Amino acid sequence: MLRAFFIALSKLNWAQRVITKSKLISRMALRFVAGEKIEAAVTVIQDLNQQGILATLDHLGEDTFSTSDAELAVAEILHTLEVISQKGLRSNVSLKLSQIGLNIHPDLCKENLKRILIKAKELNNFIRIDMEDSSLTDATLDVYRWARMEGFTNVGIVLQAYLYRTEDDIKILGKFDSTFRLCKGAYQEPASVAFPAKTDVDKNYDLLVSLLFTQVQDVNYPQISPDGRFPGIPALATHDEKRIAYATALMQAMNIPKACVEFQMLYGIRRELQKSLCDQGYTVRVYVPYGTHWYRYFMRRLAERPANLWFMISNLFKK
Ligand SMILES: Cc1cc2nc3c(=O)[nH]c(=O)nc-3n(C[C@H](O)[C@H](O)[C@H](O)COP(=O)(O)OP(=O)(O)OC[C@H]3O[C@@H](n4cnc5c(N)ncnc54)[C@H](O)[C@@H]3O)c2cc1C
Repeated sequence: MLRAFFIALSKLNWAQRVITKSKLISRMALRFVAGEKIEAAVTVIQDLNQQGILATLDHLGEDTFSTSDAELAVAEILHTLEVISQKGLRSNVSLKLSQIGLNIHPDLCKENLKRILIKAKELNNFIRIDMEDSSLTDATLDVYRWARMEGFTNVGIVLQAYLYRTEDDIKILGKFDSTFRLCKGAYQEPASVAFPAKTDVDKNYDLLVSLLFTQVQDVNYPQISPDGRFPGIPALATHDEKRIAYATALMQAMNIPKACVEFQMLYGIRRELQKSLCDQGYTVRVYVPYGTHWYRYFMRRLAERPANLWFMISNLFKK
């Protein structure tokens, strides 16, 4: 119920206008967002890198409906790539296709993605395309396939375990030697396309992990690049200890080396688990978002765990 409420709220422009004006809520969002400026994200990533943890940097933004807004988003992403290179950060970049024009026209989106991928290639970096809600799954996968057919190998996609279709998508996309990020899925989806029950999503997550691991064995993925920017391996994006325990046990049973799988988590969530996996020798990458368009991202984090809201409010009053 509350999940649906926060996701619905995330899409209301008037709510965004009202809520983002609140200094209190902006401060609360900082639990999940590095800051509004790239400098804040750089500091967060330097700290993660020092602990041996990799990053993926996301300039927040989605659902742009004008070419000028899409152009601004592209310019910021190109800048992000430059900053990663200049500062020597062990970080790649995540983006959303609706941020760079998918809702305006797929051709505009492709043109923009191509500029980003060329720049990323020049700077020896990798772009991860986040997955948005199911109204955009086909269009997102189409653009991703197009990029692979254009010869770009420095691009990966995200798949969501809550969608029924994902098992088939992994089998079909596997022929591109894809390096998937597998997450559970953060949006509110109808039962016609996604498992409504969390237990079924969890079960499917484990099933898909085993499928990805079979592909790791079959395809013999390249290992992670020394600077950690180009993963070249499947990424399991979850904070769920049971899913992680299932995956690590399966890696052992299938003799998959620790360097052949990446565990990914979000900035501000389960920090001790990130550190503990890293200390055990697993590759850990943290998703670090920054920028002024934090509203929708923040609402999705509340939707995943509404208790966050009460926890953050009580913390504010303790200070
Ligand atoms: C690196 C990364 C990239 C992602 N990219 C995408 C994407 O492209 N598309 C997409 O749809 N989704 C994406 N997600 C979000 C994902 O789909 C889930 O919504 C989110 O990760 C919560 O699911 P979970 O696997 O952690 O499991 P859950 O069962 O939801 O959570 C397990 C435990 O993690 C902790 N936890 C989880 N969420 C929160 C939270 N918000 N606040 C505090 N604690 C929390 C709690 O301790 C909880 O018990 C991404 C997630 C990660 C980690």
